[in-house]
Amino acid sequence: MRKSKDNTDVPNRYYRPTLQTCPRCGAPLHQRCTLWRKYLVTLAGRVHVFSMGYSCRRSRCSGARIIYRSVEAEQLSLKGSSFGFDLIVQIGRWRFWEHRTLDEIGSLLKALHLPVSRRQILYLIGDFLALLQATQPAKIEAQRAYCQRHGLVISIDGMEPEQGNEMLFVVREVNLDLTLVAATLYSSRADLISRQLLEPVKALGFRIRAVVSDADKNIRRAVEASLPGCPHQACQVHCLCDAGTLIFEADRAMKTDLRRDIRAKLRPISRGLSQSLPDNPQAAVLMDYCEILREALRADGLSPFDLAGLNLYDSLHRLEMSLRRCQKKRGIPCC
Ligand SMILES: [Zn+2]
Repeated sequence: MRKSKDNTDVPNRYYRPTLQTCPRCGAPLHQRCTLWRKYLVTLAGRVHVFSMGYSCRRSRCSGARIIYRSVEAEQLSLKGSSFGFDLIVQIGRWRFWEHRTLDEIGSLLKALHLPVSRRQILYLIGDFLALLQATQPAKIEAQRAYCQRHGLVISIDGMEPEQGNEMLFVVREVNLDLTLVAATLYSSRADLISRQLLEPVKALGFRIRAVVSDADKNIRRAVEASLPGCPHQACQVHCLCDAGTLIFEADRAMKTDLRRDIRAKLRPISRGLSQSLPDNPQAAVLMDYCEILREALRADGLSPFDLAGLNLYDSLHRLEMSLRRCQKKRGIPCC
């Protein structure tokens, strides 16, 4: 059964309209009702947001029936969504600017103690693309002169979320970091990529100088069909991630083993220390060591170069050296 969320420690946040007096008669506005309230997941944590409605109390005022609301509260999230815009933008950034995978985004959110499931991340990436799509015509227009003079170097970034689901794609101009097309495709077929991603870019009317993407067969075919003769390079980030997969996986396995072994040894030591006398200074120092060790065990890596297993190994080595120095000074007994 699904566990309901514990909302006991979630702070309340109240929003009021910026107007303090009635624009019709000038009398002070008074709180009338709660327009809506919801639990919102933001980058800073969960909050319980209240949007308070205010109105004029003078019965003879022509504006007495008008309810004023906080613009700021309306700008926190999409209607009906329990996730803040700040979170949606950050997830989009991780995904499409930093090339993080779904699992990596999941770990980053977990590190921030944010309750967002894998499926929800996927939906939020969809929301992000919709928001991006809505703002892009004005941005492209603002860069028209540059695009006309220099042409476009475009990147195609696709993400297959889960088996059988739609694919999320973003096409960007890499020099300007400008999104040209953001779309959801029901399949990664070459003809769909051509029709829904490349043709709209061509329709903008700028010269396309080069394409960069991962080495996906369908993207390659689509580029050949829609942009014949256009130079097409494989993305270095994707190549490095692919090349590093074996090492990354081996490292992950090592980390899992190390974690399991050390946690098993750490538990009885921690228990012993917490039962020792409260004024024992050695126990306090060793408790700090235990906490640092636990922290080191929690750290996660990031493909391709940030290897959590090796980092953990280094941390353990430094901790061991530090403990040895303490023992040399006869500060703490051997344990
Ligand atoms: Zn009034």
